[in-house]
Amino acid sequence: MTLAKSLVLCGAVWLAAGCASSRPAAPSEPAHGQLSSLSVASRPDAEFCEHRVPNETCTRCNPHLVEKFKAARDWCGEHAVPESQCYECHPDLSFEPLPVLAEGADLKKLSEAGEDVPDLGAHAVRGKVTVFDFYADWCPPCRKVDAHMFGLLNGRSDVAYRKLNVVSWDTPVAKRHLGGVPNLPFVVVYGRDGREVARVQGLDLGALDKAIAEGGSR
Ligand SMILES: [Zn+2]
Ligand SMILES: [Zn+2]
Repeated sequence: MTLAKSLVLCGAVWLAAGCASSRPAAPSEPAHGQLSSLSVASRPDAEFCEHRVPNETCTRCNPHLVEKFKAARDWCGEHAVPESQCYECHPDLSFEPLPVLAEGADLKKLSEAGEDVPDLGAHAVRGKVTVFDFYADWCPPCRKVDAHMFGLLNGRSDVAYRKLNVVSWDTPVAKRHLGGVPNLPFVVVYGRDGREVARVQGLDLGALDKAIAEGGSR
């Protein structure tokens, strides 16, 4: 399956299930675009328009932006707004810019675009809690994991954050690690001893914090 097609399928399932991150179920749904980061505000204190979108990125307030979103395939044809501004398809949209990472924060991307990472354990940092984050740009809850982790990384030097961009369910990294995982985000936590502590499916920041605390005590 092509990337474009699988992203379209994800869009179709979000529409059906109201969940932005579920695994696609059936093909041949109406076409939807992908969620790009074009709608994200440039500042944390950005003002929002009547459409509950940042003033600066709203295509209904700034029609000249439409082409830019369409070029990025970030467009919901059904509702004539960018996919990343369509509350009807994605009730849990997020426009918050991520916190600025402090210098020395331990973040690395292990998979930029779905490349395989055979062994997570080989990337666990001894002496730190390592958080492996499987995410995709089309997953709004994944941005919430990022926001949470960025805040945490800025306050702690004993946590390593390793990000894996799965892109779609069909990439090598997704096929290896996401079998049986129904939706994103999916996070795997390793302890300071370099051994796996927990796997957290879906957005559950409480479970993530608990796993990080446990990983730190090993
Ligand atoms: Zn607007
Ligand atoms: Zn829509």
